[in-house]
Amino acid sequence: MEYTSVTDLAAGLRARSYSAEELTRSYIDRIAARDSRVGAYLHRMEEDALMTARRVDAMIACGEELMPLAGIPMAVKDVLLVAGHPATAASKMLEPYVAAYDATVVAKLKQQDAVLLGKTNCDEFAMGSSTENSAYQKTSNPWDVAVVPGGSSGGSAAAVAADLCAASLGTDTGGSVRQPASLCGVVGLKPTYGAVSRYGLIAMASSFDVVGPFTRTVADARLVFAAIAGSDPKDATTQEPRTTGQRPPAVRGLRVGIPKEYFASGIDPDVEAAVREAIRVIEGLGCTIEEVSLPHTQYGLAVYYVLMPSEVSANLARFDGIRYGASLARTEPHAALPRVYTETRTQGFGPETRRRIMLGTYALSKGYADKYYTRALAVRALLKQDFERAFASVDVLLTPTAPTPAWSFGAKTDDPLQMYLSDVFTVSANVVGIPGMSVPCGFVERSGKRLPVGLQLLGRWFDESTLFDLGEAYQEATTWHRERPPLAS
Ligand code: GLN
Repeated sequence: MEYTSVTDLAAGLRARSYSAEELTRSYIDRIAARDSRVGAYLHRMEEDALMTARRVDAMIACGEELMPLAGIPMAVKDVLLVAGHPATAASKMLEPYVAAYDATVVAKLKQQDAVLLGKTNCDEFAMGSSTENSAYQKTSNPWDVAVVPGGSSGGSAAAVAADLCAASLGTDTGGSVRQPASLCGVVGLKPTYGAVSRYGLIAMASSFDVVGPFTRTVADARLVFAAIAGSDPKDATTQEPRTTGQRPPAVRGLRVGIPKEYFASGIDPDVEAAVREAIRVIEGLGCTIEEVSLPHTQYGLAVYYVLMPSEVSANLARFDGIRYGASLARTEPHAALPRVYTETRTQGFGPETRRRIMLGTYALSKGYADKYYTRALAVRALLKQDFERAFASVDVLLTPTAPTPAWSFGAKTDDPLQMYLSDVFTVSANVVGIPGMSVPCGFVERSGKRLPVGLQLLGRWFDESTLFDLGEAYQEATTWHRERPPLAS
């Protein structure tokens, strides 16, 4: 039952090798034994989990047909609402809040009878690349407890890597599924913008945000994606998927583009070597490899760090001490309204969140909006053209997911720009809305520890299935995804 893919666990349940309750208990025990060292979970839901598991066992006993994720122990990032449970977004701002309804993705997991073990740690309101911006706790990388798991969905990535759940959900606004997946040695999918509902997700930047799975295998990512994707009347930006849960044609003949701008200076030479080796493996699968150019790549990060904070400043305006969560009015019921706003927001938000609200408010303000916000929107259109042109000649793009492996706690916390630079290869996919997936492709050695490296596959809008096809073929040809971190062995 340990360190097993969702696909194999589902088969084990159906073969009655173990019951759903036994499986769930094994995860609960593992969380009790290991999570004090990992710090992946902010909130556990053991009672609910066991109840669901027993229901699945009853279904198995009656010979009922099971949904693909039935009985599979999973976790969700603490920016997604699960009715009756707290949702903090790893902020003090929301602290007493208990969700009144399920996010659509959570409702979909429940419809599949997935077992929800708990809510995972992340950067506050999903802003960060190391999970160090959580107001509650650190999360360690299961490959080396002295280094970060990446972020912002660090808890969800570490939980899968340390086998504290079989699969999890995170959110990706600028790389927050792919980058921690890469740093923790698991698979992470950022679906096409609009492929998965955002209803019940605590919004960061609404034109970028998307929910995606962390899994050990690409085949599992396909399963979880199929479960959560689809149009939702509660999120007007969603569309029906154009992909199915089936595995279509072979990867032979697939045209794989290597964007030269993603192998420029700044990339760690060992990371580059691992990704170049992966390209050779993929060529060996019968794909054609072609160098392509995405000429506006250098502006991706700047566009993201203007538009994203602008949307953050608008979205986070709702946390005013009146409607949600923490409030000065609780301790000082007669405080004047401006003081309630100011004090609540000053105490409730951490430094990175405040920085982004201020940056975004500035970029949107009269006199500066044309110079920053409107201009960034224009460059966003240019970036989109880059990808449209590239996808006219290739089927998929292959890049490193992150320029470096995981780094030590505190190494980048004093220098926001260094932290932002770790998103350089992931933000463009969010700026233009295409799907991206990180797949483990090797290790580098740092201070005597092996740290994982991920490759990133980028696909055409709504063409997740090509990413799955190529990713699965790559995993059939390699064993990187089978390696276990020291914390899980
Ligand atoms: N690391 C990026 C940021 O800090 C991405 C965050 C995300 O995808 N939620 O904005």
